[in-house]
Amino acid sequence: MIAENIKKIREKIAEAADKANRLPDTIKLVAVSKRFPAEKINEAFAAGQIIFGENYIQEVQEKRPQVPSRVVFHFIGHLQSNKAKIAAATCDMIETVDGLKLGKALNNHLQALNRTMDVLVQVNIGDEAQKSGVKSSETAELLRNLNELPRIRVCGLMTMPPLVENPELSRPHFSALRSLSEKLMQEGLFPSIEKPELSMGMSSDFHIAIEEGATIVRVGTAIFGHR
Ligand SMILES: *Cc1c(COP(=O)(O)O)cnc(C)c1O
Repeated sequence: MIAENIKKIREKIAEAADKANRLPDTIKLVAVSKRFPAEKINEAFAAGQIIFGENYIQEVQEKRPQVPSRVVFHFIGHLQSNKAKIAAATCDMIETVDGLKLGKALNNHLQALNRTMDVLVQVNIGDEAQKSGVKSSETAELLRNLNELPRIRVCGLMTMPPLVENPELSRPHFSALRSLSEKLMQEGLFPSIEKPELSMGMSSDFHIAIEEGATIVRVGTAIFGHR
């Protein structure tokens, strides 16, 4: 079941890439395993899936010892600075860095562990009141500050656009994130990156995100079923 779903998603990724004149292997699939037990991760891993997305740090901490060490965890939830220590020790990428305080906390804990970590900056692209993420207009300033921290490497941007019924309505937000990353790139704010990552698109709209330049898509329900 999970293996079949992953195969289908990979086919759809390839189709969307083809439509956008892109190579399918420039797009990474994050299987969002939040609220599913470690056995499901192991089942997906057996089907060739390596990267998994989690949004509660306690869940990563619990599942980490129950899955192969080659499993890669991307953290995709809101991360409080007081959880940065666990995140630094258990995650492979934090996609949701949204402030300097969190960046500094991660940097300090990574330093203590003698590790470095790739991160993404979460942008509140729809400028929604309750949503986490940095405002588009404040992203450049945050990147400037994060780039001073030696233990984290900002590789790109991530976003969760406003929830909509019709996935086509997400397209302008995806395209806005891409434009923002291109502008930041031109300003030299991704100094160690050749092409910034764009993490955008979920079960309902990843095909559109790919057409708009996504390099990372985060798919949960379409792989594991309803939570
Ligand atoms: C849950 C979640 C997803 C996956 O959503 P699905 O609709 O289940 O594919 C993607 N990104 C984030 C940040 C999430 O929290």
